[in-house]
Amino acid sequence: MVAKTKVPAGGIENEYKRVSVCFNCGYFHDGDFRDTCENCGAEIKPDTSNNVAKLTRVLPMETAIARRRERITCDEEERLKYGYNITTHFRYASQKRESAIVQAADGTPLFKLNYGATATIWRINRGLKKNTDEGGLKLDAKTGIWGENKSQQNKGQQTKQLNDNLHAEVNLMVDDTCNILVIEPLNVDTANREAFIATLQYTLETAIQAVYKLEADELDFEKLGDGKYLLFWEAAEGGAGVLSQLLEKPDAFVKIADAALDICHFQETKDSCVQACYECLLSYRNQFDHALINRHLIKPLVDELQKSIVQPEGISRDEQYQNLLKKTDPNSQFERIVLQEIYQRGYKLPDVTQELIPEANCKPDFLYKTDSIAVFCDGSIHDSPDKRKQDKIERDNLKYNTNYHILTLRHNEDWRSKLNILTGL
Ligand SMILES: [Zn+2]
Ligand SMILES: [Zn+2]
Repeated sequence: MVAKTKVPAGGIENEYKRVSVCFNCGYFHDGDFRDTCENCGAEIKPDTSNNVAKLTRVLPMETAIARRRERITCDEEERLKYGYNITTHFRYASQKRESAIVQAADGTPLFKLNYGATATIWRINRGLKKNTDEGGLKLDAKTGIWGENKSQQNKGQQTKQLNDNLHAEVNLMVDDTCNILVIEPLNVDTANREAFIATLQYTLETAIQAVYKLEADELDFEKLGDGKYLLFWEAAEGGAGVLSQLLEKPDAFVKIADAALDICHFQETKDSCVQACYECLLSYRNQFDHALINRHLIKPLVDELQKSIVQPEGISRDEQYQNLLKKTDPNSQFERIVLQEIYQRGYKLPDVTQELIPEANCKPDFLYKTDSIAVFCDGSIHDSPDKRKQDKIERDNLKYNTNYHILTLRHNEDWRSKLNILTGL
């Protein structure tokens, strides 16, 4: 049982953070309270379950001291059974947000996608769900002991002192950095909305796991804003890079739809499965939603997804080309010739140019990050034996320390045919 937190010399008050969270989209803001959300512009206000949006006592959970418990009272057991009231929030890392729309064959938008690399996710523990009094947890600010110490309450003198130090409405917080994908289902029918969203989230989770061969604990998700948004994150350390592919591959949702039709027994019918079963969408984890999950509700949407296309939003291919051109090494004409060739052939453009890879301490001329390809364009300056030796060390280092495939193009060889490996990207 977690019994205690470490109280720093400066007092626990200095550890508390002020946090405003948006219950429309889940966005997280710390520091001074805000009235509107930085992400969606909605008013910062309590949610429909009356969870507070502006919190004054949020304690990052860094040190917890646990003690052994022999047994708990039946009253405690009853309250613990329902678990803690935990809310999930996120924030994009600056400049690291990409958007796309999943469109049906007739152009109808089905989903809006927002991908954030190295975003932050926060989970705030607001106390036991079955807590009948106010939200949050109680903390003795002097000793760091959680909850009211009932055994000491009747000891006259001590009671007074204890109550002075007792802080109420303390919320515990943990955070993590990971790649996230926010899926916003568009044009959702309002009839049966709750059941539709509940079914959709488990269908997407199961189908993504099937297509990308992920273990159950590698992908996690949470419904935000009453199901207006579905937040998916790669739970595994480092991440398999699956979520970014959903934005980059035009047919990503076609594959997911194929898997979903298979999982939900629409390919091979299973008569004993009425709404859903443990073979398709039900699991121990989603038991509180079992009554809502109904595979037939999402069939029309999945059919549309089968013929869908992912359309990136934001900058055009021309703009991306111009941006890259501007950032190339001004001394390397050959670099620009290569880029022009890639552009004219209609191949996928590199993500970045001249970006340092810290693990190998080297700067390839072009990087395809999601495809793990590093391109080096060797103009005549790379012809000398010394330079070639140095290049080799650098690139071997890159190969050894990262999973990048290295594509070296030399100005005086048939580099154009080497570019063919970019065809499949
Ligand atoms: Zn918001
Ligand atoms: Zn089933």
